[in-house]
Amino acid sequence: MTFSVHGLAVARGIAIGRAVLVASSRMDVAHYFVKPDQVEAEIERVRHGRNAVMEELQRLQADMPADAPHELTALLDVHLMLLQDEALTGGVKHWITERLYNAEWALTTQLEVVARQFDEMEDEYLRERKADLEQVVERILRYMKGVSSPVAPPPSSPRRKTQQDLLLDDTVDVPLVLVAHDLSPADMLQFKQSVFAGFVTDVGGKTSHTAIVARSMDIPAVVGARAASQLVRQDDWVIIDGDAGVMIVDPSPIILAEYGFRQRQVALERERLARLRHTPAVTLDGHKIELLANIEQPGDAATAVRAGAVGVGLFRSEFLFMGRNGNLPGEDEQYRAYREALDGMQGLPVTIRTIDVGADKPLDHKSHKDSYLNPALGLRAIRWSLADPAMFRTQLRAVLRAAAHGKVNLLFPMLAHTHEIQQTLAQVDLARGELDARGEPYGPVQLGAMIEVPAAALMVRTFLKYFDFLSIGTNDLIQYTLAIDRADEAVAHLYDPLHPAVLRLVGDVIAEGARQGKSVCVCGETAGDVTMTRLLLGLGLRSFSMHPAQILAIKQEVLRADTRKLSPWAQQVLEGDAPLNRPASDGSFG
Ligand code: PEP
Ligand code: MG
Repeated sequence: MTFSVHGLAVARGIAIGRAVLVASSRMDVAHYFVKPDQVEAEIERVRHGRNAVMEELQRLQADMPADAPHELTALLDVHLMLLQDEALTGGVKHWITERLYNAEWALTTQLEVVARQFDEMEDEYLRERKADLEQVVERILRYMKGVSSPVAPPPSSPRRKTQQDLLLDDTVDVPLVLVAHDLSPADMLQFKQSVFAGFVTDVGGKTSHTAIVARSMDIPAVVGARAASQLVRQDDWVIIDGDAGVMIVDPSPIILAEYGFRQRQVALERERLARLRHTPAVTLDGHKIELLANIEQPGDAATAVRAGAVGVGLFRSEFLFMGRNGNLPGEDEQYRAYREALDGMQGLPVTIRTIDVGADKPLDHKSHKDSYLNPALGLRAIRWSLADPAMFRTQLRAVLRAAAHGKVNLLFPMLAHTHEIQQTLAQVDLARGELDARGEPYGPVQLGAMIEVPAAALMVRTFLKYFDFLSIGTNDLIQYTLAIDRADEAVAHLYDPLHPAVLRLVGDVIAEGARQGKSVCVCGETAGDVTMTRLLLGLGLRSFSMHPAQILAIKQEVLRADTRKLSPWAQQVLEGDAPLNRPASDGSFG
């Protein structure tokens, strides 16, 4: 039966495929695809694990003293019966042969399928057998841990003990859509190498970091879809409508045909936009607009260049630090990563933001979110760096060294106090001094601050005294101005980039930067939102940084814009005297 689940639209486009459900089960297994010629060996591993558990249970049964409680023997009988049940064994075989899942993934997937059947049973006694099934599967998994897979996951991807450790290759040709309760930004990053055609999560807001990474992958995604992961079943056909923020489950042939048509239209639109790649971004009245890329990994630089970016406006360096079980990258490793980004940009400038962890970007799976009441207001971003100066200077030295090989801008997140600015700049001086003492070469950098908290926007003049450039992080500026947790879908309807207070802060920062002849960029998600482009141009913005996939659509807006008409309108919007629907290039409203 067709039904739809509604959430928040975070990455545009249409995906049609089969659901891969990443259950939030307590079992901690790796997920990867095996090659067709490895299927037999993988099935053999499960068989081996199952037989070993059966032998163990039969031994226990044989050694059971005569006066052992009846419940105990009955329990062993149930476990033995479940181990031989075709619903479990046949299902596991199916996932391995048909889907090429590794043995552990196949086992937990089938566990999920059978567990749901137990959940739906009328009889309470039978319903409670689900726990037995889980125990049996856990036992098999424990046995299998001792018998390593002949199919090792790719060595380039560090193995993390997480259930969402999906290491995929392209051996499967059915489009797959990932449905999960939640995914951390680090998990999302790993999915960058994956075959998934789209994502849906139960939780998350439009500018949560999970959504941001999904957007950077340029595949349709919906977050905040509440009970999606409970309503969808493994392998259901689903459509993700990333424009409307809807997932359609088990679509009828008519709906499938309609969405297939829309999918082709999206592809045609992309082809059309691709023609703008080499066109300079200049408004109708001759203003040159800088369109930069936001990246998470050095490898993203190539995508940025392909999309026609004239530089990187935001390298979220924290993604180098995530999912490493606290094993932070050292100076040399970071230096190599920053150099790789610079090399990838082929001489174009790269703005490296120092580590911004905390809130919805935990370093590891165990979120720091769990331990504090208000993580977004806690030890995050520059506060985290200043709390650990040695770690901070390691990063600063790596950036400074990389700057010997290309144009680097160094950007600091979430500054709010003058003393934080001073401490930060003092750490940069110390890092330079340390490199001098080592005789290590390094290059010049432009220093910039992110404007992400209202306090920073209100004291923009002070910031401009200390820094060469500013970058407005609207994701956080909106969150902190309106007191809306950007990752919480329950308040997503209140997260408003057009709120007069937000526009006032953004407008003032842009205007003050222009007065002082210093560059101001917007690198939050509003920079890549085509419905915001004209207003930002009207407010005087000349530098935008966004996901590479958004650059061409924004360029199209720029090419159609006339700032002579947009500026007076934007000023009126700031005063609350003008409608927000933007004027077309001829000055009329549409
Ligand atoms: C922002 O806050 O707008 C920003 C670009 O930083 P991040 O999204 O990484 O917090
Ligand atoms: Mg931010």
